[in-house]
Amino acid sequence: MAMRKRIELINIDGACHKECTKCGSIKKLEEYSNDKKGKFGKQSACKVCRAKENKEYLKNNAEKVAATKKRYREENKEAFKERDCRYREANKDRIREYMRQYQQLNAEAIRERKSRWHFENKDDQNGKARHYYSKHAEKIRERNKQYYLENIDVIKERNKKYIVKNTQIIAERKRLYAKKNAEVIAAYKKQWQEDNGQRIREQRKQFRQENADKIKESKRKYYKENPHVKVASGQRRRARLKQLPSDLATAQAFEILNRFNRCAISNLDEGTHLDHFICLATGHGGTTLSNMLPIASSLNISKNHYNPFEWVQNKDVAAQLDIKKWHTALKYLAELNEMTVKEYRDYVNYCYTHPRDLSEESYKKDEDRET
Ligand SMILES: [Zn+2]
Repeated sequence: MAMRKRIELINIDGACHKECTKCGSIKKLEEYSNDKKGKFGKQSACKVCRAKENKEYLKNNAEKVAATKKRYREENKEAFKERDCRYREANKDRIREYMRQYQQLNAEAIRERKSRWHFENKDDQNGKARHYYSKHAEKIRERNKQYYLENIDVIKERNKKYIVKNTQIIAERKRLYAKKNAEVIAAYKKQWQEDNGQRIREQRKQFRQENADKIKESKRKYYKENPHVKVASGQRRRARLKQLPSDLATAQAFEILNRFNRCAISNLDEGTHLDHFICLATGHGGTTLSNMLPIASSLNISKNHYNPFEWVQNKDVAAQLDIKKWHTALKYLAELNEMTVKEYRDYVNYCYTHPRDLSEESYKKDEDRET
């Protein structure tokens, strides 16, 4: 057994010192914790060494310490509760301020934790909400209605803003919904048409009759402001009247006009007309992309209802044509008709030598449908 070292008071510059039994340093008495039974009323090891010891002990005995603490707390529950209560009461403002700061500093983390909690307890929460709703359905409906009526302006304004801000999202959502529910929607539409078709047709007819003048006037105004539409629609109408195909869209009419940059077969510097290459009077062709060419107005008038291949033989016409352009235009039309240039030429000749007589009666029928 090692001999215990005698610890003596050491006077340095008038202050009491003693040696720490742990680390051996000589330190002022203030550097040791009080101990009534200890030598000179102080512990034998310095504060630093004691702290180290404590830390070490806690580390090695975490469970034991926690259990002891817990037991102690439980045994003195009331006292602790009272103490906590007193503490809270005494530091109310300080605690509130601390909470406020904490929430401010950790807003992001708190939100995150809350939303995670809601996500993890979703089913449970939904169940609770459903239960609550079914129990208080009447009350909730009444309250919602009340709220809606009281805030109708705000709600409407908010909805409007939302729609403007999220146009694309809404459109996308609608598109997805329509795609997902295509069959149901089609069935519903069909059913609705069956139920309401007759009524709607009659309503429309009546509306048209009652507002004939107004409609005519607004059409006139629209066509005046949008002359290109009138071109395509007029051409379509003429073809329909002759029961020929007429699927030329306004956009296509534009495309043709742009593609050729003025007259497709000459260099005449004047306005162009969309010409039916195979004239409608033959009962063939039609107002389709594959039968239309932009042609200088004067040429269009002179071509009239002649076979274009005979018409170009005319000396005056030939003088005005750009022969290179003429061949390019022929190639363009042949391709659209899925023929070689020779096949197309034969086909056009056939149309002019075998005109179809489209009856007066069918003409009448289409006329009625138009108005
Ligand atoms: Zn020490």
